[in-house]
Amino acid sequence: MAWQTGSQAAEAVVVGAGPAGLTAAIALAVGGIETVLVAKRPDHPDTRTSALLAGSVAALDVLGVWDACRAHAAPLRVMRLADDTQRLLRAPEVSFAAAEIGLDAFGHNIENRHLVAALEARAEKLAHLTRIDAPAKAVTPGEEALAVELEDGRTIMARLVIGADGRKSLCRAAVGIATDSLSYPQAALTLNFAHARPHRDVSTEFHTESGPFTLVPLPGDRSSLVCVVAPAEAERLAALPDDVLSQTVERRAHSLLGKVAVEPARGVFPLVVETAQRFAAERVALVGEAAHVVPPIGAQGLNLGLRDAATIGELAVAARRDGGDLGEEALLARYDQLRRPDIATRTAAVDMLNRSLLADFLPAQGLRGLGLYLLERIGPLRRAVMREGVAPSAFEPRLMRGEAL
Ligand SMILES: Cc1cc2nc3c(=O)[nH]c(=O)nc-3n(C[C@H](O)[C@H](O)[C@H](O)COP(=O)(O)OP(=O)(O)OC[C@H]3O[C@@H](n4cnc5c(N)ncnc54)[C@H](O)[C@@H]3O)c2cc1C
Repeated sequence: MAWQTGSQAAEAVVVGAGPAGLTAAIALAVGGIETVLVAKRPDHPDTRTSALLAGSVAALDVLGVWDACRAHAAPLRVMRLADDTQRLLRAPEVSFAAAEIGLDAFGHNIENRHLVAALEARAEKLAHLTRIDAPAKAVTPGEEALAVELEDGRTIMARLVIGADGRKSLCRAAVGIATDSLSYPQAALTLNFAHARPHRDVSTEFHTESGPFTLVPLPGDRSSLVCVVAPAEAERLAALPDDVLSQTVERRAHSLLGKVAVEPARGVFPLVVETAQRFAAERVALVGEAAHVVPPIGAQGLNLGLRDAATIGELAVAARRDGGDLGEEALLARYDQLRRPDIATRTAAVDMLNRSLLADFLPAQGLRGLGLYLLERIGPLRRAVMREGVAPSAFEPRLMRGEAL
């Protein structure tokens, strides 16, 4: 093919080897697509954990990744929401049990370092996948293919580029896709901790005036914490000595898990929403945070990212099977159309929940309380919300349904 001359060629290039990019690259390669994964080592170690919902776990299982995650992941069988505000109108406590909708668990919580290590180990074994540890410097669209120029001087030509290069995506900028963004007066402090009492596979989200304070089980008597507060408060807490921070976490958790011992690694993440105005253009499809950033409330971010990876994988593998062009306009338009409702509804839901917590406006607090009251009292409504929370009703990619591509 003319576009292959003079450079290294692949059918697809994935730029970015975070969890979304690795999953997309594995899905393509498992489907027989010659794929190059262009990776740049992250600037900081990722200290976060991810609560992966049942569909994400099913997808990782089909892709041959989950076996290596299993020992590092804790099941989430019950999710509890508790109003910890001092306001006049307070919401009732609501518990969601996975068993109520016939599931063993809503999903599993795993440290990102274990998830990424399992994905990397799987990627290494795939014959159709080549990893290059050199950052992409430029992406140039063309009629028949794109050119991905690397910092080590190589250029790779491909029909399809998957931009999985995170918040400041070079791929997104290269095809001129703008983003809509807003930031909140909040930041999330993340850390993991050991505790004296068992968590019994229950995740607890305390709703406070500054944002959620969420405890999510890890294997054994350990949990992860996402504490959303004002940015200065997040920095102050992160700088506390271990013993003082342990006491602070225990107090804010109302000693639910007994004595707390925080582990040394801490992260502080500003709360933002950023959504690409299109999820694909000119042979580039965006996945993960290159496409959407949502606040860490309700465990949506990476679950959306994995659904992006599964969707583009499904479309590209089907196009290849039919002898089509992996980067053709109709395929990219379909990708955009399939991902839009899921990303839009979940971003809006997270935004609404966060705003209802921050609002000092009495009717807003009343509405949140009423919503939670109805969820607590009306079983069918609660179950419908749980089902939608675990999997989107609009379109669920094959991998999320546990089916091979
Ligand atoms: C506090 C917090 C808690 C969270 N908890 C959850 C949760 O419980 N559940 C959930 O589903 N989600 C959660 N999320 C969201 C989740 O962490 C993110 O969605 C996910 O990590 C994003 O993965 P990604 O692969 O899209 O991006 P990243 O992990 O940012 O990966 C992008 C990669 O691209 C690389 N890159 C950048 N530029 C280039 C280049 N030019 N060339 C090559 N490579 C490049 C980077 O080095 C990086 O490795 C949370 C987020 C936060 C902030």
